[in-house]
Amino acid sequence: MTSPQTHTPQQIAVIGTGYVGLVTAAGFAELGNDVWCVDIDAEKIARLNRGEIPIYEPGLAECVARNSERLRFSTELGPALDHARLLFVAVGTPPTYSGDADLSAVHAVVNAMPATDRHALVMKSTVPVGTGASIKREFARQGKGFAYVSCPEFLKEGAALKDFMEPDRVVVGDDGDWAGQAVCDLYAPLGAPLVRTDIASAEMVKLASNAFLATKISFINEIANVCEETGADVAEVARGMGLDRRIGGHFLRPGIGYGGSCFPKDVSALKQLAGNSGYHFQLLTAVIEVNELQKRRVIAKLQKHLGSLVGKRVALLGVAFKADTDDMREASSLVLAARLQADGASVAAYDPVAAGEARTLMRGVEFADDALSAVEGADAVVLVTEWAEFATLDWAAVRERMAGDLLVDGRNFADRDAVLAADLRYEGIGRS
Ligand code: NAD
Repeated sequence: MTSPQTHTPQQIAVIGTGYVGLVTAAGFAELGNDVWCVDIDAEKIARLNRGEIPIYEPGLAECVARNSERLRFSTELGPALDHARLLFVAVGTPPTYSGDADLSAVHAVVNAMPATDRHALVMKSTVPVGTGASIKREFARQGKGFAYVSCPEFLKEGAALKDFMEPDRVVVGDDGDWAGQAVCDLYAPLGAPLVRTDIASAEMVKLASNAFLATKISFINEIANVCEETGADVAEVARGMGLDRRIGGHFLRPGIGYGGSCFPKDVSALKQLAGNSGYHFQLLTAVIEVNELQKRRVIAKLQKHLGSLVGKRVALLGVAFKADTDDMREASSLVLAARLQADGASVAAYDPVAAGEARTLMRGVEFADDALSAVEGADAVVLVTEWAEFATLDWAAVRERMAGDLLVDGRNFADRDAVLAADLRYEGIGRS
């Protein structure tokens, strides 16, 4: 991590202590600030006050412990308002049935604010373009002199703390009042490129960035599918493409579709936002459809080798939407397991971190305590999440435990030579 420049410590508040809120709070505390954390989830606050970290995020527990004197956790807003002027909002904005963002938690925060003119709401939650303007109108209607800043968050789960400390950029959208400058000053020690802009543009930077990344994933997934038809190897293709600086090598890894709490909902929210404004965003419609089909292509790969899946046993290695997180929101494994069960297969699974949450979401799936137990008696194994421990899995031991001999590598992550040497059949994504 970069060593932060010195600055005058501030007192700030963070409302919502989930993946973004807790990391933001810990990060600002690491920079020397006092952070008042507020959440309506009393159990979560009780755990945090006992020193427990409710989510899995590398380095977060250590960072919170290191800064415990600068971090306070409460369900009460009052003390935060007394001490802090900048109130960072990091509550959830999940998708609604219509595909729009559900802003009820954001509105609950707005409505809970008292009539003062010395505070500012700093929006870290991902919200549709226009939300800031409508919140400002609402504050004015309620006679609250709150300032408003859009400061979207770009961290990645699994590397969230590092992303906080070393952001590619900090985006601050404001109306040029005291609060925008105060947010810039707070982030200044990180030395990151600053994009100071208007509120609507800041909101759009976030949605457009996630939509572009999702587009890149769906694009390489389609290239992978064409590679399978034509005999090319997508890993070679991606390497050759990625060295072109106009394209870049990131997000050119094919797989079984993007998931998680951000891409699916943010892409859908932008598509919906465009539609609500009278514009049909055709490209995003395709991005979403490609992603849905990609999750299901694993079924066709299994059928190609096993025929009917009725009575077959399939083991899933990893279920989290990506490695280094316990987040199961929109994980591709949820669709995969449900499709396998619908086709008559029994499903076993192992995940080193996400199993607890996954158990409640994946009914009928047998969870094992380790990878070798999960593959016991399996006709096929699907590598779903690129957990580091799967890179060094003893594939000969896997083969011994299995009833069948098929590995579908949904992330092109396993060492193909080692898999083949263990007398397993290997089926990757976009590799002939
Ligand atoms: P989360 O569900 O993990 O956390 C949200 C927290 O807000 C929960 O602890 C919840 O109890 C709390 N909360 C809800 N209503 C509240 C209220 N009225 N007052 C106080 N607390 C309240 O969500 P998250 O993943 O941290 O995401 C938060 C926002 O950040 C979303 O808009 C998301 O799109 C965006 N975002 C998320 C990520 C990510 O990787 N998770 C990255 C960038 C941006």
